[in-house]
Amino acid sequence: MTIRLCTFCMLMWCTSLLATDTDLASIDDSAIGKLMVYIQESDAELSATEAFKAFTQSQNNSSYIPQVINSSAISFGIGTKPIWLFISLHNSSNTPLKRNILVDNIWVDKLDFYFFKDSTITSRYQLGDAYPFKQRLVDSRLFVVPFEFPPGTTQVLIRVSTPDSISLPIYLLSDQQLTAKTEYHAYSYGLLYGAITALLIYNLILFFSLKDRRYLYYSVFLSFFLAMNFAYTGHGFRWLWPNNTTWQMWCGSSLILLFNISGLAFARQFLELKQHFPRLNRAILYLAVVALSLFTLTVLASSNITALFIAMSFTLLYPIIMVSLGLLSLKFGYQAAYYFLIGSISAAIGTFITALSVWGLIPFNEFTFRAVEIGMLLDAVLLALALAELVRESKLKKSVAESIALLDPLTGLYNRRGLYKKIAPIWDDFLARNQSVSAILLDIDKFKLLNDKYGHFLGDKVLEKISFIIKENARVADIAVRWGGEELLVVLPNTNISNAVSIAQRIRKQISQTEFELADNKVIVTASFGVAELLHETSVDELIKAADVQLYCAKNAGRNTVYAKHNTLAENQQA
Ligand code: GH3
Ligand code: MG
Ligand code: MG
Repeated sequence: MTIRLCTFCMLMWCTSLLATDTDLASIDDSAIGKLMVYIQESDAELSATEAFKAFTQSQNNSSYIPQVINSSAISFGIGTKPIWLFISLHNSSNTPLKRNILVDNIWVDKLDFYFFKDSTITSRYQLGDAYPFKQRLVDSRLFVVPFEFPPGTTQVLIRVSTPDSISLPIYLLSDQQLTAKTEYHAYSYGLLYGAITALLIYNLILFFSLKDRRYLYYSVFLSFFLAMNFAYTGHGFRWLWPNNTTWQMWCGSSLILLFNISGLAFARQFLELKQHFPRLNRAILYLAVVALSLFTLTVLASSNITALFIAMSFTLLYPIIMVSLGLLSLKFGYQAAYYFLIGSISAAIGTFITALSVWGLIPFNEFTFRAVEIGMLLDAVLLALALAELVRESKLKKSVAESIALLDPLTGLYNRRGLYKKIAPIWDDFLARNQSVSAILLDIDKFKLLNDKYGHFLGDKVLEKISFIIKENARVADIAVRWGGEELLVVLPNTNISNAVSIAQRIRKQISQTEFELADNKVIVTASFGVAELLHETSVDELIKAADVQLYCAKNAGRNTVYAKHNTLAENQQA
């Protein structure tokens, strides 16, 4: 009894709600979902007249009770049974009023429009992407029915039948409003496709020049994004395959799936999953293979609904996988994953906002409906930045590796390669300008004995400390080098021999006055020095050889002394 009473009340409430016509002139350019009511077919297909009765007669015998729509856009999930939408419109003027019914959706298979005047069908139109494009009333990727509403009340019934999810923002627009909307779409899609295409071409060029496969994967990912967007926005059907209704039926689900799989393939390459997380890498591979195989089976079985279901499930899983991969890689210290993660999060947020708006949980408008595109664009730009960051990192690593290769690891002085690398670009300049260049070559005295007594490790400490003394005494332009085992060299540009000898003496004194603490002993270490200035020599090797000759003399003269090639400096030589 109570149930019957409730049903009766609802019926009365719905019908009283239905009785109100909407004034046609008062409708603005926002979606009219809330002004409509709907019924859903059970098993038997309803005729337009039967549906009309269900909407208009409070005492109808049918079991159909019109339902209000709570959001601007009408939304139902995949595989919904056909829906009938109803709106009663009143033209209070005495001339016909032209309006365009715009259904902002491209993938609904069948949309049947019925216009009723005085309970009789006056016009009927059949739209939907199950029909070739040329059957459309208006050349638009969206479904548009232009209609001259006569004075008085006209009821519009729309039957929606499709296996896809039903998401129908419906608008009633004047010609100017329709043009404005079309233009807005044209500009915004132009911007989206322009930006993505530019990124795509740029990354393909990078791939061909750098031969780094990550750019290829990224380009494939962007291509699938373009293809998928082209398919589900109807641009493809309008321009590329207007007569191919079979491909139009399958393109959405297959391209969505391929886009998601290409995203995962890029993530595997970019985050180097194979090296860092081999198991996870394999799991993702299997997931993709399973999804693709299942999808192929559904295509073979011609089950469009199952195909859509697989594609949509994968779409829900995709942002979760991408964000988790980003978090995991970041946790394990992979810096470039930072951009990847932010990109994936923005794409996920975009998808989420669009899904919520389509489900009617947040207000439906142009921004919320297309949030997924904004998210994806952000993701694409951030991933491009991430790739650039990788190039920057590898360049940095390379230059660090290169400069490390020029240094001696123990002493931090240049090694021989470092010396030649540093001196090569300036040497000819020295010669051409007749500039004075000197070399100081020093060799630690009796170092073998020291090693034998205190061990090689403490010997190393002595070598390090002496190198430090040399670095302290060297000027910016000087090049200090570990020439051999315990032979150290300083090449001094803009320095004549007497200045070089003074510097050598200073270093010699500093070494001989340093007390080295070796195994609780205070040990004095000395070194012998050979100094030469560039006079008739033409190469740096010849200059060093000249210094080496002097070093030999210093050793012979009893060590801990400076010898120079110039005879007049004899008085300077002894300590
Ligand atoms: P002299 O005064 O004639 O130069 O005597 P010396 O013992 O220093 O000369 P010698 O050429 O006979 O021996 C050089 C020693 O230097 C031998 C080697 O053990 C030591 N040496 C060379 N490179 C290193 C090094 O990197 N670390 C240490 N601890 N010792 C080294
Ligand atoms: Mg020595
Ligand atoms: Mg030696």
